Amino acid sequence: MALQPSNLRDALGSIVDPDSGKDIVTAGMVKDIRCEGDDVSIELELSSADSPLKARFSEQIEQAIRAISNKCEELVGAIEVTFTADTRSANEQVRQDTNPLPNVKKIIAVGAGKGGVGKSTVATILAVGLAKQGFKVGLLDGDIYGPSMPTMLGLHREESLSEDGFLLPFTVHGIEAMSIGKLVEPDRALIWRGPRAHSAFNQLATQTKWGELDYLLVDLPPGTGDVPLSLAQLLPLTGAVIVCTPQVVAQDDARRAVRMFQQLGAPILGLVENMSYFVADDGKEYDIFGRGGGEQLAASMNLAFLGSIPIHPDMRIAADTGEPLKNWDINDTMSKAFDTVCTSLSTAADSSTPDRPTLTIH
Ligand code: ADP
Repeated sequence: MALQPSNLRDALGSIVDPDSGKDIVTAGMVKDIRCEGDDVSIELELSSADSPLKARFSEQIEQAIRAISNKCEELVGAIEVTFTADTRSANEQVRQDTNPLPNVKKIIAVGAGKGGVGKSTVATILAVGLAKQGFKVGLLDGDIYGPSMPTMLGLHREESLSEDGFLLPFTVHGIEAMSIGKLVEPDRALIWRGPRAHSAFNQLATQTKWGELDYLLVDLPPGTGDVPLSLAQLLPLTGAVIVCTPQVVAQDDARRAVRMFQQLGAPILGLVENMSYFVADDGKEYDIFGRGGGEQLAASMNLAFLGSIPIHPDMRIAADTGEPLKNWDINDTMSKAFDTVCTSLSTAADSSTPDRPTLTIH
């Protein structure tokens, strides 16, 4: 009888993992056993890439296999042991834990490399636009250092309510919304950093009684600070959208934001270029900041480009007066641009399948 993976598996069951106290088979560490001719190869998953146990496991595995081959009087040739490590990032781990927002199907972060590029404006357009397309949408203003949703959504007109210790989201413009700006004086939040910012964001995200939602969009503070990390450690993200402006000088900031989300383990669903071009009343389009920079950046980073949003004074007015739906009344070219970005996002979110990478180490 030649040695079979099942004999080998039994033999490996005699090796104990000192970290868990279980044998390596029961602990689920043996990922693969292969026999090719007389040669055997074993793949073992460790908890970290630089585990000091590699040499010890290699030796014990070799001894166990030689012992079973002697017992069965079967020749064994080369024995190769390879190691993999669970290298899941913050958000990859969260995606496999219990979801603190089970009512929400997809959670999407909206980020930007720097302030003033129109991140909150785009988050609002996406939220209201997806709701116009029939989705149930929530918008969480996680920009705790400069919350603009109270103004952009006209939340000052709404009364804050709570129920059973939970905040009730505001139902406005066809969406559910919550903002730190409705809970504290905006100036106070400006000085929050580290644990304070983390805890404020956590409370806002998990102590809001969201209804059943297809999408929860989270508007983050610009840059690469504490809040994106808190979000990635707290909520399972379908992915992130990065907002940028067309100028070449803005691209380094956007690139940094992309890298940050990738490091946190959030897939990048795509880039949106805001203030892309101006559409005059006669329908003529003018490239003010050099349209196309966002698309080039997306191509250079191998990311999806979700579309361009024009610049128009009426958008600023819709934001200042808290009437986001009025953006769709400006002109047809702009309404189409908004709808295209929303459709691209929902398509990207549908096809996003965050996987679980493992790293092979020798
Ligand atoms: P961020 O969230 O990136 O700091 P905001 O969304 O708050 O940026 O936008 C900054 C300012 O620019 C706001 O006054 C907003 O109304 C205006 N703005 C953003 N995008 C546009 C646009 N496409 N057209 C006109 N004004 C815009």
